[in-house]
Amino acid sequence: MLRLQDRVAVITGAGSGIGLATARRFAEEGARVVCVDLDETTGAAAAAEVGGLFVKADVTSEDDVARMFQTAFDSYGGVDIAFNNAGISPPEDDSILETGLDAWRRVQEVNLTSVYLCCKHAIPYMRRQGKGSIINTASFVAVMGSATSQISYTASKGGVLAMSRELGVQFAREGIRVNALCPGPVNTPLLQELFAKDPERAQRRLVHIPIGRFAEATEIAAAVAFLASDDASFITGSEFLVDGGISGA
Ligand code: NAD
Repeated sequence: MLRLQDRVAVITGAGSGIGLATARRFAEEGARVVCVDLDETTGAAAAAEVGGLFVKADVTSEDDVARMFQTAFDSYGGVDIAFNNAGISPPEDDSILETGLDAWRRVQEVNLTSVYLCCKHAIPYMRRQGKGSIINTASFVAVMGSATSQISYTASKGGVLAMSRELGVQFAREGIRVNALCPGPVNTPLLQELFAKDPERAQRRLVHIPIGRFAEATEIAAAVAFLASDDASFITGSEFLVDGGISGA
């Protein structure tokens, strides 16, 4: 028996990086996957590859978020797993002294408000079923901060972590588990884009990772599949670090 057999999973940011690797992993483990992305080309390709559904949605729009969970319910009869993962990297100079209010607000909107909207619209379906697993993508920087000046990004991920803990505690008795996934640096387009702007930053980061390399997206996907499955039945409200030891160094 596959661990996620016939579970209905909604994944945001499924067109690339961690979301794409997780869509593949969930499908391998038997889930029916709804791939959500703003990018129609990559999102639709991901859905086709995993034999799932594609929903084009902007996770900062409440109407779009409501529609994507409704589509999962109408097409597959429920919502068992929500992997709220879409996010953007920090603006170019994200120090407290340089980041403008518009850039700050944009990062909060895409990285934090989106998670609020996704939880708000996933939980009613899970409540009706009396079970569900929500995994919200935070980051290791939510736990330890970052010496590379990314104030809006770190603050947004800290919010995701606190919200996940709060919801994990609130809904534990209703069979809904909520966890914050905290990846270390992962070799995805988001990280590559960041390092392309500042190549020295990659080297500085690398020396602080005890395992000595960046993660592959498949290694993060394996952790998400675990959190989504009944193997994690006693894990809720946690900060689940998958960071090569960086937060402990
Ligand atoms: P990525 O850029 O490869 O993929 C992000 C996906 O989200 C893209 O397909 C993009 O189109 C989609 N997206 C962006 N804005 C959206 C919106 N408004 N609505 C719908 N979809 C949208 O990034 P990734 O590295 O896979 O990152 C995934 C998550 O992991 C993000 O939340 C990121 O902050 C987090 N994270 C990444 C790293 C890393 O090192 N890569 C480390 C820690 C946390």
